[in-house]
Amino acid sequence: MPKYKNTYLHQKRISPVFFIIIAILIVLGGIGYFQKDRIHLIIKGYNFNEQNMILQLDDQDIQTYLRSDKIENLENWQTISQDHHYLDYSIYQKQHPQTNAKDVVNYIDQFYKLYQPKLDRLGYPKDTFLQMMQNASLQDFAYLVQEELPYSKTKDYLSIKGVVYTNLEKYIQSQKKPLDAVLSISYPFIESPQKVNQTYIVNEPESLTLLIKKGFQLPESYIPSDLKDVNIPIAKDCENKQLRKDAAQSLEKMSQAALKENLHLALNSGYRSFQQQKAIYDDYFQKYDAKTAAGLVALPGSSEHQLGLSVDLTSQSVIDGKWRFFGDTPEYKWVIENAHHYGFILRYPQNKSNITGTTNEPWHFRYVGLEVAKIIYENNWTLEDYVLHYGLSSSTTLIKSNH
Ligand SMILES: [Zn+2]
Repeated sequence: MPKYKNTYLHQKRISPVFFIIIAILIVLGGIGYFQKDRIHLIIKGYNFNEQNMILQLDDQDIQTYLRSDKIENLENWQTISQDHHYLDYSIYQKQHPQTNAKDVVNYIDQFYKLYQPKLDRLGYPKDTFLQMMQNASLQDFAYLVQEELPYSKTKDYLSIKGVVYTNLEKYIQSQKKPLDAVLSISYPFIESPQKVNQTYIVNEPESLTLLIKKGFQLPESYIPSDLKDVNIPIAKDCENKQLRKDAAQSLEKMSQAALKENLHLALNSGYRSFQQQKAIYDDYFQKYDAKTAAGLVALPGSSEHQLGLSVDLTSQSVIDGKWRFFGDTPEYKWVIENAHHYGFILRYPQNKSNITGTTNEPWHFRYVGLEVAKIIYENNWTLEDYVLHYGLSSSTTLIKSNH
């Protein structure tokens, strides 16, 4: 037993190396404690200059950077900005990839200088700013501030796609339900196509349920990113054989199903670019006059064919001259009964031109996806009816007003 006791005592003697290690750990811990934000920024991948840029901001802002994903090219923002809203620049730039960096900085800096303090006082929470910035211009913020519209009165409208800020007072006065107010006041032409007094550009052209017609235009530069050739029989003079992937595949399935019933569908026209639509329109414009042309062909930017989701169908029997009009064929009868099973709707039915603004086009079908096609078919709706019930699927920017 004594032997054991001896060993125990010997081991208890602490070596000086141990003290040195403890001392180093205390010093490192101290540095770590006082530099914890910097260490956090290093881990996120910020370089030394960027760390300094962030660490000179006030503590609340620093914490926001620590919570957010790393901002790329932070130093680039520094060279053009007056203020330090790097995080907002970066988020706004992602929301608006077309806007150049100088305009981004100008927008954000002006917002914080001129409007943010007043919006604070009107009760707008901080986290609504970035949401509003998706589609609000500086003039829109000026309007909110000038009219002193408190958040409590506007918040139900702000979350609706297509809200027009300068119409907010009208919405409130109308006492309609928020969606009804926004659609009927800012877009009366959805229901009454003869009242097209404004033209809006849609900001989210990829949406499957996007409403495109006179008054709602696609950006001239919009080309769907997932176009593919449609693998069904193609009419001889068809130059537009492409559709967006989902629409193309669904149409192929529909065509195969029709074939099983010995019905032969063919494609007459699919995706059409802005320039192709412009060429068609200009052609009509030269032959007739502006009014006649506009009645016969869609204005460039307001043709559904630019979406890559619409098709003009025909049948082998029409191609062979057995029938003159697709609308008279057994293929047509089958398609109007079955298209919704493949996500397509008859876009311009015969007795619905008072709402669609387009006369009967029995050949023109629009892909909206299975779920929505079913809703529209079962309710005997048009796409306009669907939008009136479910809302627009894109924010908009007013480009022209004829008031
Ligand atoms: Zn068409």
